[in-house]
Amino acid sequence: MSAEALDSKSLDRYECAACGYIYEPAKGDNAGKIPAGTAFEDLSEEWRCPVCGARKTRFSNLGPEGNPSGFKENLGYGFGVNALTPGQKNILIFGALALGFLFFLSLYGLN
Ligand SMILES: [Zn+2]
Repeated sequence: MSAEALDSKSLDRYECAACGYIYEPAKGDNAGKIPAGTAFEDLSEEWRCPVCGARKTRFSNLGPEGNPSGFKENLGYGFGVNALTPGQKNILIFGALALGFLFFLSLYGLN
């Protein structure tokens, strides 16, 4: 129940390869009557994805919440902010710098 009782491994989230549902240990699974704080590893082998019914073996480890998750899984469809690669983040940063520079130039031109 309490977060302190969980080691870091037990906080790993798991994503259903069939439908994209993410099991979060901190939330548990209401539909499956799994209490919050239950590690994926501790789920029964009979447990099924609450969305599509896939078996545990279809799930892949995304790591603990807060990490840029599932690096290899997200390469194919990385549209979330968390899925940005360092290169994409650089484009955002340099894009913002370029905009700021253009803004500075326009002010300079007014003077
Ligand atoms: Zn599923």
